[in-house]
Amino acid sequence: MSRQLGRPVRDVVEIPARCVCGNPLVAATSPRLGNGTPFPTTFYLTHPVITSAVSRLEAAGLMNEMNERLGADADLAAGYRGAHEAYLATRAGIGARAGIGAVPEIDGISAGGMPARVKCLHVLVGHSLAAGPGVNPLGDEAVAAIAEWWTADRCYCDGAWDTGGEAPSRDLSRHGPQGLPAIVGRPAPVRKTSAGPADSSGAGQ
Ligand SMILES: [Zn+2]
Repeated sequence: MSRQLGRPVRDVVEIPARCVCGNPLVAATSPRLGNGTPFPTTFYLTHPVITSAVSRLEAAGLMNEMNERLGADADLAAGYRGAHEAYLATRAGIGARAGIGAVPEIDGISAGGMPARVKCLHVLVGHSLAAGPGVNPLGDEAVAAIAEWWTADRCYCDGAWDTGGEAPSRDLSRHGPQGLPAIVGRPAPVRKTSAGPADSSGAGQ
């Protein structure tokens, strides 16, 4: 997993989703880091192929479209609020298994914009892959929308990251404060596709 991320992995408690070959897809991080920092973003994507594919969805504007629908569709909004609650409950369980006490600093705070907004599709996809289908409706949509580049039934690991040499012992990636995963700062090359599910314009096709 350190190879996938290009940095040493810290404070990971569990691997809640794996490739069919066994490699990690999602890491679950302790709600309190070893240095004491509260950490609300429990699930993050470790697989570069999925990370890049989700970045393409973000670049194509899928989050704007989802936010508009959240404001207009009461059922979707309720389902998304349920995802938020599930996220908090799962995080509490992970914290308990990790031997972490309560983390009151992040009570009621999940991630990715939940429960009312969509701010990071990587967070939602990480949640959906960890929880399985039917828990996070917008995460599930995003998983379906990357099917052109990644599906759960196949291994996309070959060549997806550097497997030679030593695993990274220092941080080779760029990421923000608090050790936020590289998912936020790893822009993917956006390719124009003729029939991409993220292509909301549909113009000229
Ligand atoms: Zn694989």
